[in-house]
Amino acid sequence: MDRDTLCIHAGYTPGNGDPRMIPIIQSTTFKYDTCEDMGKLFDLEESGYFYTRLQNPTNDMVAAKIATLEGGTAAMLTSSGQAASFLAVFNIAGAGDHIVSSTSIYGGTFNLFNVTMKRMGIEFTFVDPDCSDEELEAAFQPNTKAVFGETIANPALTVFDIERFADAAHAHGVPLIVDNTFATPINCRPFEWGADIVTHSTTKYMDGHDAAVGGCIVDSGKFDWSAHADKFPGLTTPDESYHGVTYTERFGLGGAFITKATAQLMRDFGCIQAPQNAFLLNLGLESLAVRMKRHNENGQKMAEFLAGHEKVSWVNFPGLPDNPYYERAKKYLPDGICGVVSFGVKGGRAGAMEFMKNLKIGNIATHVADAATCVLHPASTTHRQMTDEELIEAGVPADLVRMSCGIESAEDLIADVAQALDAVTVL
Ligand SMILES: *Cc1c(COP(=O)(O)O)cnc(C)c1O
Repeated sequence: MDRDTLCIHAGYTPGNGDPRMIPIIQSTTFKYDTCEDMGKLFDLEESGYFYTRLQNPTNDMVAAKIATLEGGTAAMLTSSGQAASFLAVFNIAGAGDHIVSSTSIYGGTFNLFNVTMKRMGIEFTFVDPDCSDEELEAAFQPNTKAVFGETIANPALTVFDIERFADAAHAHGVPLIVDNTFATPINCRPFEWGADIVTHSTTKYMDGHDAAVGGCIVDSGKFDWSAHADKFPGLTTPDESYHGVTYTERFGLGGAFITKATAQLMRDFGCIQAPQNAFLLNLGLESLAVRMKRHNENGQKMAEFLAGHEKVSWVNFPGLPDNPYYERAKKYLPDGICGVVSFGVKGGRAGAMEFMKNLKIGNIATHVADAATCVLHPASTTHRQMTDEELIEAGVPADLVRMSCGIESAEDLIADVAQALDAVTVL
C-alpha cells in the first residue's frame, strides 16, 4: 500500500465492532489470572503487558504504524526525541565505547553526545558530513559501535549522504543510526539507503500540531548483530537481568534491538511516551502524508520567492538549484524537502528583528515543523549570548531567520513575508 494509505491504516486493524481509532489504554497495570501467566511475561517467554513504564498497547500500535511507514521490523515510542537518540545509542554503546557522528546534527543531540554521554564514558568523534573518505576512515576506532547522522540537519539543512555513511559503517561492522525527523518517512526512508536504525522527534512533523512531545526508534531488522557478536555483547550474550535470555537468539535480527531497549532501558529509565500523547501522535500521523505535501510545496515556493527578493541577502534550501545539496536532495528527497527555509535579511541583526516584528501570520517560536508557520531569529533568542563573530563560526550569522512554513495557503504566507520585508527600514 501507498504511504498515504498506511498513515491511516497501519499498526491497528479494528475487528467487528471495535473502535475505529487506536484506543487510549490509560492503565498503568494489567491483570492476570495466575502467577504463572504473569511469570512468563517476566521471562520474556510470552509477549504481553504488565506495567506501562515499559510498554503500553496504545504506544505499541502507534509505534507499529511508524515501523511500517519506515519499512522497519519493530519500533518503540519514547517520551521525547532526546530520549530516542539517547536510547538508540545507549542500547549498543556503554563506557569505553566510541561513536562516529556527523557534526551537522540538532544542537540538543550534539549536547547530549558531547557533554552528557561523554560523562557516561562514551567517546564521540564528530566528522563533517562532507569530509573526505580518508577523514571518515580515520574517525573509526576498534571500539566504535555505531555511526550517527541526520537526514536533513536541524537547523543547518545539510542533506546527509546516507548511502556513503552506511557503507562506511558496515565496512567497520557497525550500524548506521539516522535521525529522520525533518524528512519523515513520507519524504525519505533511510532503510532503503542502508541505514539500520532510525530515530524521530515525533514532536515535529509527525505530531505536527504542537500538541505532544515524543520520540520513536525504529529497527530495520537488517543489521546482523551476531556476525559482529564481539562488538555487541549486550545483544548476543545472555542478559542476567532477564534470566539469561540472549536477545538475538530469542527475538532474531528483526526483534532483538527493540526488545532489549524495552526490557532493559525502558525498564531502568522509564522514559516512555504517555498513552494520551501516543493517541495525539496517531492523530497527527493519519494526516502526515497529506500535510508533508503541503509543507514541501510551501517550503519550495517560499525559498523561490525569497531568492528573488531584493531585501534578502541569501537563502538556504536544498530545493534551490544553486544549493550545494541540490543534487543529493534529488536523490534522497525526490518528492520534496520539508517546510524549513533559512535566509539572511539585509540590514543584519536589526533588519532580521524588524522583519520578524512586521510578520502577521508567522508565530515567533523556537519550534519547527508545525501546521502553523513559525519563525525564529537565533541571534536575538536561542543564541543571544554569542557575538557576531561567534555566530558566524557556529553557522548562524546575525542576519539568519529560520522559517518553518506551515500548511497555510502559500499565497497568504508569501504575501505576509513580502509586506514584512517591504516594511524593513534598516539596510
Ligand atoms: C527537536 C529535535 C530533536 C529532539 O526532539 P525532542 O522531541 O525535542 O526531544 C532531535 N532531533 C531533531 C532533528 C529535532 O529537530
